[in-house]
Amino acid sequence: MPQLGTIELPLRVAIIGSGPSGFYAAEHLFRQNELVAFVDMYDRLPTPYGLVRGGVAPDHDKIKSVTKVYEKTASNPRFRFFGYVEFGKDLSHTDLKAHYHAIIYAVGAQTDRRLGIPGEDLSGSYAATEFVGWYNGHPDYRHLTFDLSQERVAVIGNGNVAMDVARILASSYEELKCTDIADYALDALQNSKVTDIYMFGRRGPAQAAFTNPELKEFGELSHADIVVPPAEAQIDPLSEADLIAHPDNTAKKNIELLQKFSQLPAGNKPRRIHMRFLVSPAELLGTDHVEAIKLVKNELQAGSDGTLRAKATDQFETMPVGLVFRSIGYKGVSLPDVPFDPKAAVIPNVAGRVIDPANNNTVVTGEYVVGWIKRGPSGIIGTNKPDSVATVDSLVADLGSLNQALLPDIEPLLRQKQPQVVSFEDWRVLDRIETERGAAQGRPRVKFSDVGEMLAAIQQTHKGN
Ligand code: NAP
Repeated sequence: MPQLGTIELPLRVAIIGSGPSGFYAAEHLFRQNELVAFVDMYDRLPTPYGLVRGGVAPDHDKIKSVTKVYEKTASNPRFRFFGYVEFGKDLSHTDLKAHYHAIIYAVGAQTDRRLGIPGEDLSGSYAATEFVGWYNGHPDYRHLTFDLSQERVAVIGNGNVAMDVARILASSYEELKCTDIADYALDALQNSKVTDIYMFGRRGPAQAAFTNPELKEFGELSHADIVVPPAEAQIDPLSEADLIAHPDNTAKKNIELLQKFSQLPAGNKPRRIHMRFLVSPAELLGTDHVEAIKLVKNELQAGSDGTLRAKATDQFETMPVGLVFRSIGYKGVSLPDVPFDPKAAVIPNVAGRVIDPANNNTVVTGEYVVGWIKRGPSGIIGTNKPDSVATVDSLVADLGSLNQALLPDIEPLLRQKQPQVVSFEDWRVLDRIETERGAAQGRPRVKFSDVGEMLAAIQQTHKGN
């Protein structure tokens, strides 16, 4: 009997999701010596690359060049991209099980965490992820409109997404026009009346989740000054002791920069980013639309595990703002017929092997998970590489216990269920059109943001050939 993973009995793997974690999983599968594996990568959008396309800030073009590595993986003759195919809608879990020896879920974290405060759903209050999707031309968010006639904006949270949102709001038209920001977003931001952007971190400068390069960039904006209240840039005794016990270079450099910003004389740029610390939103106020934010002052307290947590005091302040972006982290969502841990918002797993809590946490044969839906929404793009490698190593170690049948190619069924499936060649067509349009305007690309337009452009090219 032939062995799974050989020419006679090739391993068929479906990867659901085409972001970094999915591509690193495919890359590591192809690196296995003597393993014959066919990898089909699915995405519900016609475009690949997940958050590299829809999340990374438009002015961070260098970070996006990581797609060159993914293109190399995609050029492997045993790789296929099936775009515009939604798991659970166009293809069921049962369909996939009948055609693949292994499924790797790489769907990321597709929604946002909630603050759970009164007024959170007032108009003018958005998840930062919506704004990010909008300015990046993500088809799900292109229809949104943000009232940029407001002068004062709150950004809640101290992570890198909050930094991206604040920086994009603070950037000038000149800074944005040479990026791949969505056209409609560039127009809207050109007419923005925003002058003051307030970032609210619930803990202190030593606990901020943002990283040094992002903070440094704040000091280099042509159109915005950075304002840090000197008292809030100070490090409290608990944080000081914690930094001695757990030296942290990122925190150390962040503190140095923040203290430097806090000493700057008042600037005269047209916009300001105000970085506030040790404050939490208690309520968003307004009748129909957000008009103000009520903040509670926090102090730090050591939790039972030693981490310093924010504890609310009885001091409040209210500040007028007309737009709020809640940037307190992404959150994973469940997939049909796949185990899910609603508390951690991840697919439960051991070393990347999906386990089923409804069945005594037993391993689900042939199902694996990588990326944010495996470990939660943390880490930079590169963090996904070792994470995906670990999962694929588990898969390879399991080869003997997977379904050993010779499985049929899914393509005939897929074309029947989703005739408009988008191949990697089709994506290259979109990519070429986008970059050509961009070159004409001195931009890296001018993105498609409408699925119908993407499909029409692909069809047009097919007709022309
Ligand atoms: P994040 O790094 O986890 O930051 C979330 C922030 O929200 C933290 O400051 C957190 O404070 C705060 N927060 C959580 N719950 C809160 C609440 N109830 N009230 C007030 N504040 C609250 O998440 P993210 O910014 O969404 O980023 C996700 C991941 O993508 C991160 O690993 C990030 O580094 C990465 N990323 C990287 C880049 C880049 O490399 N340029 C760009 C974007 C994103 P606590 O610390 O107190 O919990």
